[in-house]
Amino acid sequence: MSGRGSKQLSTFGAARVLGVLAVALLSLAPAQAQNTSNSIRLSVDLQEAARRIFHVHLVVPAKPGPLTLLYPKWIPGEHAPDGPIEQVVGLKFTARGKTLSWKRDDVELYAFHLDVPPGASSIEADYDYLSPIEGDGYSAGPTSDPVLAVLEWNIVVLYPAGATTDALSYEATLRLPRGWKFASALPVAKKRGDDVDFSPVSLTTLVDSPVLAGEHFRSIALATDVQPAHHLDIAADNEADLDIGAEQAAAYSNLVREDGALFGARHYDHYDFLLSLTNNFSPNGLEHHESSDERAPETTLIDTNKRQYYNSLLSHEYAHSWNGKYRRPAGLATPDFEQPMRDDLLWVYEGLTQYLGEMTAARAGLRTPEDYREALAWTAAYLDQWPGRTWRPLADTALAAPFLYNVSSRNWESWRRSVDFYDEGWLIWLEADIIIRRDTHGQKSLDDFCRRFYGAPSTPPKVVPYTLDEIVAALNEVLPYDWRVFFHARIDEIQEHAPMGGITEGGWRLVYNATPNQRVQISENVIRTIEASFSLGMRVSTEGGENGGLADVIPGTPAAEAGLAPGMRIVSVNGVQFSQQALTDAIHDAQGNKKAITVVAQNSGFTRTYEIQYHGGDRYPHLERDPARPDLLDDTLRPLTGTGAGK
Ligand SMILES: [Zn+2]
Repeated sequence: MSGRGSKQLSTFGAARVLGVLAVALLSLAPAQAQNTSNSIRLSVDLQEAARRIFHVHLVVPAKPGPLTLLYPKWIPGEHAPDGPIEQVVGLKFTARGKTLSWKRDDVELYAFHLDVPPGASSIEADYDYLSPIEGDGYSAGPTSDPVLAVLEWNIVVLYPAGATTDALSYEATLRLPRGWKFASALPVAKKRGDDVDFSPVSLTTLVDSPVLAGEHFRSIALATDVQPAHHLDIAADNEADLDIGAEQAAAYSNLVREDGALFGARHYDHYDFLLSLTNNFSPNGLEHHESSDERAPETTLIDTNKRQYYNSLLSHEYAHSWNGKYRRPAGLATPDFEQPMRDDLLWVYEGLTQYLGEMTAARAGLRTPEDYREALAWTAAYLDQWPGRTWRPLADTALAAPFLYNVSSRNWESWRRSVDFYDEGWLIWLEADIIIRRDTHGQKSLDDFCRRFYGAPSTPPKVVPYTLDEIVAALNEVLPYDWRVFFHARIDEIQEHAPMGGITEGGWRLVYNATPNQRVQISENVIRTIEASFSLGMRVSTEGGENGGLADVIPGTPAAEAGLAPGMRIVSVNGVQFSQQALTDAIHDAQGNKKAITVVAQNSGFTRTYEIQYHGGDRYPHLERDPARPDLLDDTLRPLTGTGAGK
């Protein structure tokens, strides 16, 4: 955007290249990857992973005088200043065997100031990282248990201020718990027993290359007909949870082929899906250039509901290797981890990835077209219903992402809005795809934009920043259209309704009826929440200790009119102790008559009775075929390689 930004970014992009090219391109950098004497040495000991303490030893070459060390704050892929610095303890600096005093900066709390004494050529730091025991968060969440660990290097590293992360060379070593196996995109120099020495890489690459390790471990080669190599590496709490089955593995191989065909090139030297299966972590995915950190519950591969619920987790993070890692909004391509990221184009970075991830899961055969449509119907329905869109434009959900990501409760989410640039991005990019298909009579599609913008030639990992102008220009090369106005209306302006053009022009209609939405049912089973948003206007937890808790009550709905609010807990419904069945029975009893549904709810130690006036019966969203229009939506889900089961 600004001249200052783009100048920094071009240096950053060029120096991000790995391998043989690095020697030439890193000539601007003080520390070349090959020159180990200038490397910062980082040793991480995971042997106490079960106790959730990671021991760290760091040796930083330094000259006598003031030195500032930084802890990563703005984490790539997390779009927020959420580096978990509160989990760093026991920090001690020494030089030539003497302890150094240190002081945290009083404004930049992620910076530590110290003085390197005369005669010293390096300083050493020792500290522990405490893996949280519970809670959400991306790399800041729980990250080890007695049998497995994921190490995102940003949580354990310090780096000297004043250099770009491309210019700093790190030589990392890792000590694993006895007998654990591991996988990472990082190149291994040497392995001795449980100790691993990684080859020197830039700090950018180090932080971009997490390690997955565990006792129960499996590595599967995917799409062996495709170059470069792809692996699905799985660590699980139980050996039985590794049993992926030939059909599922084949679908992930299809995913590798489908994304290759979609983008027409690859920008990595190899790719590792790093999948941890445990109930001790918070489920999520974090993208990297040559790998992805995927976290899901322990039985995800072997339980039908969980497998379906998470069927687009890997496809989303994988698409990020192109959209997000290779090509990145200029405001997110920062030269170090302290400079604030600008999140304005997250509706491209995350929104387009959401669209592609949902779509390629269908093309690869990880889901059926019907599952895709049910998920799309639910997404379009909630976005259309939630009143947060009447005050907050989609653009603001992107700019406010650092705190919208970190709202831990879902209370009033419908009124606040959440990180809607993901799901609403799906609708907007679907609409763009459908417009291209419609106006070119099926000759072109968003696939052509993907090939043009993210495709040939294949390269090693590097960052090529982009602006909105470049997105608009590339779309215009596929189909001349007023794309700027198209995006401006949907992103920057308040829109009372969700963008439905992709669905309607794609040959479908959003309808509501009493038939349960399959995707809603899967979700209710997996995340233990009743979706009564489209009937009563509330979401109710059925999870053990939270049973009956109101996760959200949507303003303007019968539940809200009755005076219910998130945070309350339903005790009984029509005189019957709360359960999903009791709520369903009450909805049926009140259907078509004037009988109120009587709810007793607790609220911070007080109990009150509420009367809900709702008589419409069960109500769920679906897509219904519109015979007057061609089925362009189905065309978007057709596999490109002929290997998927997307049809
Ligand atoms: Zn993403």
